[in-house]
Amino acid sequence: MARISQETIDRIRNSADIVDVVSQYVNLKKRGRNFFGLCPFHDERTPSFSVAPEKEMYHCFGCGAGGSVFNFIMEHENLSFVEAVQQLGLHYGIEVALSSASNESKHLFTQLYELHEIAASTYAKVLFSERGQAALDYLLDRGLTEETLKFYRVGFAPDAWEFLTEKVKGKGYSRESVDKSGLFGKGKLGVVDRFRSRIMFPIMNRTGKVIAFGGRVFDSDDPAKYMNSPETPLYHKSEVFYGYHKTASAVRSAGSAVMVEGYMDFLQLIQGGIENVLAVSGTAFTGRHAVQIGKITQKVYLAYDGDEAGQKATLRAGYALLQNNIAAMVVPVPEGMDPDDWARNDGSAAVLDGIKNAKPLLNYHLEKSGALNLPAVERSNLVKEILEEIAGVNDGIIRDDLLQTLANKLNIGENEMIKQFRTAVNRKRNSFQSREPKPTELKLFSTVVQKAQIEIIRSLVQSFRDVKEQVKSNIDLFSEPILNKTVQLLLEYGFGSTAEVLEEFENKSEREAIAKILINEQKIEDPQIVVKECIQTLQTQPIRMKIQNTRLKIRELEAAGKDSSDLILEISQLHQQLKQQTKTDQ
Ligand SMILES: [Zn+2]
Repeated sequence: MARISQETIDRIRNSADIVDVVSQYVNLKKRGRNFFGLCPFHDERTPSFSVAPEKEMYHCFGCGAGGSVFNFIMEHENLSFVEAVQQLGLHYGIEVALSSASNESKHLFTQLYELHEIAASTYAKVLFSERGQAALDYLLDRGLTEETLKFYRVGFAPDAWEFLTEKVKGKGYSRESVDKSGLFGKGKLGVVDRFRSRIMFPIMNRTGKVIAFGGRVFDSDDPAKYMNSPETPLYHKSEVFYGYHKTASAVRSAGSAVMVEGYMDFLQLIQGGIENVLAVSGTAFTGRHAVQIGKITQKVYLAYDGDEAGQKATLRAGYALLQNNIAAMVVPVPEGMDPDDWARNDGSAAVLDGIKNAKPLLNYHLEKSGALNLPAVERSNLVKEILEEIAGVNDGIIRDDLLQTLANKLNIGENEMIKQFRTAVNRKRNSFQSREPKPTELKLFSTVVQKAQIEIIRSLVQSFRDVKEQVKSNIDLFSEPILNKTVQLLLEYGFGSTAEVLEEFENKSEREAIAKILINEQKIEDPQIVVKECIQTLQTQPIRMKIQNTRLKIRELEAAGKDSSDLILEISQLHQQLKQQTKTDQ
């Protein structure tokens, strides 16, 4: 297996500030010395995921996840350690050389980016060639200009099984990269193109690198109108917006984003001069999208299709936004149209007008469901449904505002509203509790001996210089193998080496158990005394156990009317030992 020098690993760890890296996935808030946020590894409502910048590690008090910055990337992106180091190295501009004889000169991520770049430029070329003429005509006919198409690198994948396959064959790409790219599939004769006879919309990451594609069927009887790249190491659907690299700055300066569902909608609006537009790519809008967009704006205009599916998606996206403290406004897209049709038919001025007249999500919800005219039972159900969504909103001001609107619009008394809301909160809490995964099987370390070993480790982490020697000379007392390993590593790597130590645990549940110990911030007063007492416990505990067992045996013998004088002697010898042990330590 490929290896990376420790020096490189350390350099990358030092550059890749763990708060910085985790912040790209989790909305972190500072509390004391550490940062807290909603855990990305389990579903939760109150933050139990913490990052300790000084220790360069993270730990979730809910599910037990924990480790260094590399472990975080490994878990989050489902990568090996080497791949995680490479990814961060790439991101922070540190070259990662692999000391391996194999021809892995180009590593996975470089290869994946290259494959996507080849695909994007090849497809773009085809669109403007004879093979893509019909597709190009269609796009131009839909009102898109050549300039727009070229700017967003729209392309065409011809109706062939091995078009792209041929382009990358023999260029040194590993089987793994080809498999993980999501650009190919497996046919009877081996690797084949995934996208065939489709108009191709390249999806870029923040820096403008192509990481995936959305493909719209063209001139084929394939029933799937849109096909997207699958999740890959480069592409996480619920964190990516189509067009983000071009329009994020416009979103920031406008103070809002116009969110659409389709690539064509996006291109049409942007061409019509609406610059702060973004599109979700290939998946429904989730809380993770909301977290992402919350980094650049606090207000989103939803401009989804004006059909029933579009309405449902609007509500889902809208409540996900509200629950992440982002204002959700709904643009009245005419029934039966999508924003693309709308802009083409009525001009972008009409769309701009619609944005100006957008309604807050809750007003839209009540209006669309005809709340005022519903029979009592249905109206009550609707209120319950809405209250459950509101129960998920953390921000008190937003929540009260929503409750007030709901009460006013439906003429519900304040007391009744509060009562119903409480019920909804409880229902929500219960449903979350049952969904919450049980903490991973952590080693519980509950015996006196294990606890003493843990206290020593914590003292060592906190006051390395003060207790180092004491611990060093008693290393044999660490009877628990993984605690023994931890203390050896801490001594070897020295002060402030928590992250390095964690990385030495390849077994996930072991690593998490150790992370839980290392993150503990409770201050230990007089660490030298604590260590001394713990060492004493470790030394004497086996003797105490022996005494206890012997006592039990004596009681058994006595109950059976047998002689126990030997054992009584043994006990007094053990007591002697115990006394000596405590004396030598003083
Ligand atoms: Zn968790």
